[in-house]
Amino acid sequence: MFALSERRRTAEVVRLAPGVRVRGPIVYVPHRDHFFALDPAHEAVVRRLSGRPGRVEGDEVRTLAELGICDTEPRTPHRAFFGRSVVGRLDGLPPVTEPLVVNCFATAHCPLRCTYCHADDLMTGYREQENARWLERVLRVAGATPAMVGVVTGGEPLARVDRTERLVERLAATGKAVVLDTSGVGDLGRIVPLLHRHRVHVRVSLDSADPAVNDALRPANRRFVPLGTSAAGHAREAIRQAVRAGIPCSVQTVVTARTTSVAGLLALRDLLVGLGVTTWVLHIVVPVGKAADPRRAALLAPATAQDVLDEVVRRTAAEGLPIDIRLTGTHRAPNSTLLISARGELAVEDVARSGKKTFVLPRLGLRGAVLRHFRTHVDLEGHASRYLNGTLAAYEPATGAVLTAPAS
Ligand code: SF4
Repeated sequence: MFALSERRRTAEVVRLAPGVRVRGPIVYVPHRDHFFALDPAHEAVVRRLSGRPGRVEGDEVRTLAELGICDTEPRTPHRAFFGRSVVGRLDGLPPVTEPLVVNCFATAHCPLRCTYCHADDLMTGYREQENARWLERVLRVAGATPAMVGVVTGGEPLARVDRTERLVERLAATGKAVVLDTSGVGDLGRIVPLLHRHRVHVRVSLDSADPAVNDALRPANRRFVPLGTSAAGHAREAIRQAVRAGIPCSVQTVVTARTTSVAGLLALRDLLVGLGVTTWVLHIVVPVGKAADPRRAALLAPATAQDVLDEVVRRTAAEGLPIDIRLTGTHRAPNSTLLISARGELAVEDVARSGKKTFVLPRLGLRGAVLRHFRTHVDLEGHASRYLNGTLAAYEPATGAVLTAPAS
């Protein structure tokens, strides 16, 4: 607990933290790979700081500094936020009319064949024809899309490093924070200098602390990698490499029937904390892509999955462990993401057809076309909720108070 006078002494000089992106009341913190929605009092502080440091005092500064949104002198220690994204008091999530995130395929190739792969329909039928012309289209559309964050994904970005390098550079050059989404199967070390140069956040996929469970859900594709390749082994090695190199690194986990257990998820959490991971994102498996196949119905997480995840967050917060946890609500709003295929089409989930709708975009008026499709075909509330944790019980409009400085 802090006496008020002590609190005020903590905020002598304040500036926005490096790489933080701001759009009105929405802020993205790259090292946490996390969005926050600010109430008017916190938004006013951030607006005041945008572009210039200053002397600001008060509880708002302390909260913003603890979340990594601003830096203070003397330094304010960061704290984990345990799945919460609303800072202060809000009656609802801010409306979103432009994408927060765009997911861009560097390639349709992938060395794994995950049982639940949501992107399968944007890989099969694309791989054989992938070419340089397609990449130019991806770069054009990615550059024109007014998102705060560009995710380099696939397929596996490490499977085509030359394409990945160009995509990272284009996203960064057009003002976006960049995230590299990877299974870890490939040579992450080769692109460490690029990742440093553009402050890229690396997000590694790992579903279980038990390598056998992980590798059963995420088996290797023998057409790309040798027999015995372990997705779990590669994921752990990629995490170690990123942490060693000082690259911000998070882990994402797809929660299926096989992994819906408090004990199993806590074992994974402990493994991640031990590896030095400070952000963990959990998605309940979505019945799209491969997981939409009725023959794979046993993969889908049970109705209790949300309760299991809430319990994991609750226990982690109670223990005060230094790991952020973000739960996405994609299972409730499957068409909440915006994708760019390896061919440079815009793609959104088509819930009725359990596939993707794709749109070929014009050369002229590209930005306007992207926005039109985004506003027409993406569930905008679902998009905000996916990235701002609207589905997590911790956000309660009735009380509103979610992330504030601890009371004196
Ligand atoms: S690593 Fe990603 S793209 Fe590759 S099969 Fe798994 S889920 Fe699909």
